[in-house]
This record gives sequence, structure tokens and C-alpha cells, in this order.
Amino acid sequence: MFDRRAPFLPRVFAAFFAFAYGLSAAIPAAQAQGRMPVVRDAEIEALVAEYAAPILQAAGLSRSGIEIVLVNDHNFNAFVAGRRIFIHTGALMTAETPNQIIGVIAHEAGHIAGGHQHRLREQIARAQTMAVVAALLGVGAAAAGAAADIGGLGGAGAGLAAGGAEAARRSLLGYQRTEEITADRSAIEYLERTGQSGRGMLETFERMAGSLALAGVNTDPYQLSHPMPRDRIANLKVLVEQSPHYSRRDPPALQLRHDLMRAKIAAYTAGRNAVDRLFRNDPNGLPALYGQAILSYLHGNPRDALNRIDRLIAAQPSNPYFHELRGEALIKANRPREAAEAYAKAISLSPSSSGLLRVGYGQALLATGQPDLVRKAAAELKNGLAREPEYVNGYRFLAQAYGQLGDIGAAELATAEGYFHAGAYRDAKMFAARAQTKLKRGSPEWLRAQDIIDFRAPRG
Ligand SMILES: [Zn+2]
Repeated sequence: MFDRRAPFLPRVFAAFFAFAYGLSAAIPAAQAQGRMPVVRDAEIEALVAEYAAPILQAAGLSRSGIEIVLVNDHNFNAFVAGRRIFIHTGALMTAETPNQIIGVIAHEAGHIAGGHQHRLREQIARAQTMAVVAALLGVGAAAAGAAADIGGLGGAGAGLAAGGAEAARRSLLGYQRTEEITADRSAIEYLERTGQSGRGMLETFERMAGSLALAGVNTDPYQLSHPMPRDRIANLKVLVEQSPHYSRRDPPALQLRHDLMRAKIAAYTAGRNAVDRLFRNDPNGLPALYGQAILSYLHGNPRDALNRIDRLIAAQPSNPYFHELRGEALIKANRPREAAEAYAKAISLSPSSSGLLRVGYGQALLATGQPDLVRKAAAELKNGLAREPEYVNGYRFLAQAYGQLGDIGAAELATAEGYFHAGAYRDAKMFAARAQTKLKRGSPEWLRAQDIIDFRAPRG
């Protein structure tokens, strides 16, 4: 499963922190509007969680409920908002080694552990006050100029306002530069403590500085919303090279999983040329084959896809995600019973027991249309969604399963849940009210519907 249609409602300030702590200065329009295209995928989530776990522990954050959210965006970016670390699929695909992404996660963990967001909020308030005062002064001067009818002074007033705003902005960016350096140092510490090299982080930042220079953007550090100046990289290089772990390489098995992930992202988001380009040095390797299998599943005929998937499974029989892909291809080939078996196999092999795999399993069972299997589908979907309540698209299948079983009240409640977790509260309340007319008053389902009806949407 690589679901790109999963909507996500970031909490307050997400767009701003993307600006403040993102690795790239660009904020995609969707993010600025407060909605991000989030990717849900069991394989990628499990791998990135493994990358993050030791780092979060070293940062003292393993019990802080830090969540990693994958954003469907081809730009290289990662940023923090609240307890979430957002990582673009573009960053995962571009990073050549696990170590490069681990370095990025370490840097972002440094921002969280340092409490930078909280203090930044205070800085914003101060800067806003400065800007407001400057604007008032400017207006005052402009008004005075106009009243005295002295040519030119009105213009000076406007200039004063702009200058004040510029000073406020520079003060904010200066503050931000300090925090970037602090986050770099924390990152190096976490990598050191976990016996990992900082080389990947350095490589990533060097590449970003290089691409900024290549793009010919203004390199005045104050003009860059995310500073990546040469002195920052030079300092980092010295520290990274001092580490006894500097030359340590990622284990080959982890590198392979990383490359399989890159192949998957390339196949789903960028197409055949991207897969070919990524693995041109190893066109017959497992990652290239994985990418091709996904491409045939998406665009070719299911038989081709299944042939390739069987080769993948022959090479790695206990890779749960090859069985998951087989399940998806079998659903597409209209062989739902075999698809359900493939998903069951994937679940039995998956150490993370992801709710997403269970939703896939439920979807396959549902597709059989056989009442006993549809009943099982409803149970699996419910189970999967209990683990992944924010996986909005799963509720559609749950509603279908209940609908086929003739339980209309439960189907409407599932629909209400889907809307609720997508942030469409009006539709959620409408379906919850409809569900209540069919549910037994006071039952757990009825009470849940009441919770949705009573829910008051957070502002902002
Ligand atoms: Zn940063």
C-alpha cells in the first residue's frame, strides 16, 4: 500500500515551522494552506521508524510520543511541528544511504529536544511587536509629513515602516541561525551516542548548499529563510570528521531496504524514468525489480506484475511487503481470495504489525463478497483502524463491509468517523446523527456517534 490520497490536518503553526526549520525554504502551496498530502505506507513507515528510534532515545524523546509523518512532495525537505517530524518523500528518495536520512532526523530531533519551536513562538511575538511599532511610527511620520505638507517626508515615513519590518525580520532570522547551529550540534551528539556517523548529515547539507548556489539564489545569509552558509557547513565538517564513527557504513541489509524504499517512492511518484535513473548502476538488482513490479502493477497488466513479484518473493520469501504488493496485484486481477491469503502472509511476517496491512487484508476479504469473509473483513478493518484511527481511507471499506452485512447504522457511523478524522466535521456530524437513528440508544456505537455530534472543532 502506498496511499497518497490520505489527507492530513496539521496542527497550528505547521506552515510557519516549515519555513522556520525546514531544510528547504520553499513551502508548497498545499502546506501553506494548512493541508498536506500525506503518504501512508507500512514499509516506509516501519523503516523510517527504525531509523528514528535510536536517535529519539539518545535525544531523550523516546517517551514523548514523537510521530513521523511522510509528506508526498518531491522536494527535499524535513521539518518539525509540535511532536511531529515531517519528512518529504523527495528527501527519502534523494538520500542515497540510510545514514543521510538518519542525520536529517537527528537534526530535527535536535530542534524538538531544544524546545526551539516554543521559544521561536515567543520570538515571533516579539518580532511582530517590533514590526507593529515600526509600522505605527511609519504611519505617524507619514501623517506628520502630509499634515505639514512637506514634500518627501510622507515617503520617508513609509520607508521607516519598511525598515522596521526588515529589522524585525533580520532579528528573527538571526535567532533562527543560532538554533540551526544548536540543532546541528545536538544531532552530532545523538549520532555519536548511537555509534553512527555524521557523514550523511554533512553530505545532505553540502548537497543543499551546492544546489542553492547552483540555483543562483541570493546568498546573503539574511535573505535565506533557511540559512545553510558555508561557515555552518565548515564547522559541521570539522566536528563530524573528529568522530571515531566517521567511516562507519550502514549495514548492507539496511542499505538494501533503503534502496527498496527509494524504488517504491520513485515508482509511485515519479515513474519509470526515475526508477531507471536511480538504479542505472544495478539494473538487475532487487530494488530495480521492485520498482518495475510496482510500475507493472500500476500501469501494466497484473500478470506481468505478478511474475515480477514472484521473482521478488523467491529472492526474499520473508519480506512482508512483497507479499503485500502481491495482495494488491491480486485484488487488481480480480482474485480476492488469493489476495486475502497474500495479505495474511504479509501480516504474519511483519514485525511492526501495522494497522495498514490489516486494512489491506480487510479490503481483500471485502472484495470476495462472501458473507462470512465480509464479516471477517469488518473485524479486520475495525482492528486495523483501531491501530490507525487517522487512516481516513480505511473507513470507506469499513462502511462498505457493514453496508453489505445490512448494518446500516454501523456503516453510517464508519462514514462519520472517516469524515471526522479528515477534519470534515459538518459531514461527520450529519452521518453521526443519521447513524444514531439506527443504533441502539446508549450502546458504545451510539455514544461514539454522540461524541462526534458534540465535538467542537479546534480553532486555527
Ligand atoms: Zn534546522
